[in-house]
Amino acid sequence: KPVIFSGMQPSSDSLHLGNYIGALQQWTKMQKDYDAFFCVVNLHAITVPQDPAELAARTRRTAAQYIAAGIDPAKSTLFVQSQVPAHAELAWVLNTLTGFGEASRMTQFKDKSQRNGADAASVGLFTYPILMAADILLYQAASVPVGEDQRQHVELTRDLANRFNSRFGETFVVPEAQIQTGTAKIYDLQNPSAKMSKSAETEAGLIKVLDPANVTRKKIMRAVTDADGEIRFDREAKPGVSNLLTIFSVLGERPVDAIAEEYAGRGYGDLKKGVAEVVEASFAPVRTRTEELLADPAELDRLLAAAAERANEVASRTLAHVYERIGLIR
Ligand code: ATP
Ligand code: MG
Repeated sequence: KPVIFSGMQPSSDSLHLGNYIGALQQWTKMQKDYDAFFCVVNLHAITVPQDPAELAARTRRTAAQYIAAGIDPAKSTLFVQSQVPAHAELAWVLNTLTGFGEASRMTQFKDKSQRNGADAASVGLFTYPILMAADILLYQAASVPVGEDQRQHVELTRDLANRFNSRFGETFVVPEAQIQTGTAKIYDLQNPSAKMSKSAETEAGLIKVLDPANVTRKKIMRAVTDADGEIRFDREAKPGVSNLLTIFSVLGERPVDAIAEEYAGRGYGDLKKGVAEVVEASFAPVRTRTEELLADPAELDRLLAAAAERANEVASRTLAHVYERIGLIR
C-alpha cells in the first residue's frame, strides 16, 4: 500500500471545523487504501509558547479526537511526534540543506510571526516547515493529505527531498500534497477572508468540535454574511455565505447548488439553522466518543506507545540510511 503522512498540532483544547473538513474527514476515508501515519505534532506546537500541563492534556485530547472521528488505531499508525526521536534528528539534517532565503519565503511564518511582532517569534517557528519535511520524508510518504494552507510547506518538502536525492543519491520518496478542491480551506465565521485557525485572535468565528451544541449554534447564527440577502455561492462577492454553503455541502453531503435551490428566497437565518443542524449531527458522536476515550487515559497512552514503536521502526530505518549517505558515522 502507498504511504500517507499527516498531522495536527495539539495547540488547542479542541480541533475545529477546518481541521475536521480539510484534514480529518479526508484521512478517515483514506486509511483503508493506504499505509497511513497520523501524528499529533507536539514538537510543532511548542514553536509558540505552551503551558506544559495544558500541552500534555491537549496531546491526549487531539489523539482522542482523531480516533473519535474515525481513525482506527488498528489500521493506521496514530502516534505522538516527540515519542519518535528521528523527527528532530532528520529535521537537523534538513536544516543544513535549506537556504535561509528559501525558509524566509514561507508565508505561514510571515503570518504567525507578524501577529506577535517578529522579534517575539522563535527560531523554532522559523524552521517549522523543515521539521514538517522531516515528518513526511521519514515515512517515505507518497501523499500528504492537508488543507490548502500547507501547500507551500509540502512544496518545500519536495524541494528538500529532490535536493537530498541529487546530492547524496536516491534516498527519499518525493511526496505530493493531496488537497481537496473546494473544501480545503474553511474560513473564520467572523472574518471570512481568513482561514479558521486554532490560534485565531478571537474565538467568535471558530467552530470547535468539542464545544457544546448551544455554543456552536450561537456562533453560527452570528456568522458574518452580507447585505444583499441572496443565498448563492460567490466566493469573491459573498465570502461569508459561500463559506456557510461549503460547510453545509460537505457535512450534509449535498451539492452546493441543491442547497442554494432549497433555500432560494429564504433568509440567512434559515440557512444558518440548517448549517447548525448538520454541524451538530457530525460533531455530536465525535464529542461523545472523545469523552469516553479520555476517561481512560492509560489505555489511550498504551495505544499511542504501541503506534510510536511501529513508527520508530520505520523512521529509524530511514534515518540510518540518511546518516550513511551523508557520512555521519554510527
Ligand atoms: P494553528 O493556528 O495552531 O496553526 P491550525 O488551525 O492551522 O492551527 P494545524 O494543526 O496547524 O491547525 O493544521 C492541521 C491540519 O488542518 C492541516 O492539514 C491544515 O492544513 C488543516 N487546516 C487547518 N486550518 C484549516 C482550515 N481553515 N480549513 C481547512 N483545513 C485546515
Ligand atoms: Mg496551522
